[in-house]
Amino acid sequence: MSVIEKNPVHFGTAEAIALEDQFGAHNYHPLPVVLSKGEGVYVWDVEGKKYFDFLSAYSAVNQGHCHPKIVNALIEQAKTLTLTSRAFYNDKLGVYEKYITEYFGFDKVLPMNTGAEAVETAIKICRKWAYEKKGIAEKQAQIIVCENNFHGRTTTIISFSNDENARKNFGPYTEGFIKIPYDDSAALEQVLASSPTIAGFLVEPIQGEAGVYVPSEDFITKAKALCEKYNVLFIADEVQTGVARTGSLLAVCGNCICENKCERQATYVQPDILILGKAVSGGVYPVSAVLANDEIMNVIKPGQHGSTFGGNPVAAAVAMAALEVVADENLAQNARRLGKIFREEVEKYIQTSNIAILVRGKGLLNAVVINDTEESDTAWNICVRLAEKGLLAKPTHGNIIRFAPPLVMTEEELRTCIDILLETLKEFEK
Ligand SMILES: *Cc1c(COP(=O)(O)O)cnc(C)c1O
Repeated sequence: MSVIEKNPVHFGTAEAIALEDQFGAHNYHPLPVVLSKGEGVYVWDVEGKKYFDFLSAYSAVNQGHCHPKIVNALIEQAKTLTLTSRAFYNDKLGVYEKYITEYFGFDKVLPMNTGAEAVETAIKICRKWAYEKKGIAEKQAQIIVCENNFHGRTTTIISFSNDENARKNFGPYTEGFIKIPYDDSAALEQVLASSPTIAGFLVEPIQGEAGVYVPSEDFITKAKALCEKYNVLFIADEVQTGVARTGSLLAVCGNCICENKCERQATYVQPDILILGKAVSGGVYPVSAVLANDEIMNVIKPGQHGSTFGGNPVAAAVAMAALEVVADENLAQNARRLGKIFREEVEKYIQTSNIAILVRGKGLLNAVVINDTEESDTAWNICVRLAEKGLLAKPTHGNIIRFAPPLVMTEEELRTCIDILLETLKEFEK
């Protein structure tokens, strides 16, 4: 008998939270909202209250909740074949691999499940390439990363985080990473010029978790050029920024929007290794991917890397459907158009306000900086109030609130949400 049946009186917000609190590890601090249903840009809680979702599961649900085409792909494939392991071939994986590599313009893909696994995969490929292609001496390879990065939660990844909360008491840490300030191509060049043992530069084209930091317009272009100059792999972690979130298919596309087939516009910067996760599946199933061209990907041989679930037929079917939706529904274009409206309207309000000091972002990945200290609970309280008014968002770092709705939002819905946001901010004016 399930817990719910044991409790016939009422299973509501308090009961669900109490269960998680008692039986789940306390590794998150959620807003006190218990969701039980989602559709498009909306989610509903167990009390039947409807909300706009302005987090989109950290940009995994770009295609909207429970998109029928993606859910259908899941159901159909789940009824047919779910998992074979990679000990055998399956009839969906190759089709998906052809699809996603053509979609993003790379020779090959290595399929994994979560974002952190894909980052780990990229690190392994980069190191192996450094020893076998670049000729760096054994165990000497270094990867440059940026301060305030977020690349996931594994032991190696937190080794090069500078978030004390993510790192403290999880040592000893993995070696081989050099940290430079974000958006600082001079610092990048300095490290590249002074060390012959650099294998790669791992970077988020926009730092999402750090609080949606958009670098200067030419940072990515310059970084890529420097990587080429010093024969170092440019590794883009687009787990959060990828798949139309920032108003183009990838954040490294710059200002180019070209449906699903990348036409390689002038602003496009081709990463040597591209890391994707989250919205690759529209939030329906854990799917991540590492893309690279043959000369890099071919350093990985049988037995050297893998995952029981990576590339399973359900993941393949779901990801193909999810990427089709992105192209069919022009989600990049929509994100770009709505993002501009969002920033313009919030910017106008900021001119007159003493509670919000800054709005920044690209496409529909935006953040509003609240006029209070990092340690204050003002941003948290604003999010609690927003939830009461039917809009779900969450602070990233103390005083920064991220706004990232599903990309299927209409302009009318967005304007309603802007009204809710501005009304709420006004209540907090000092
Ligand atoms: C979310 C995220 C990850 C980690 O993805 P998980 O699926 O949570 O492991 C890695 N990099 C970036 C930029 C992310 O936003």
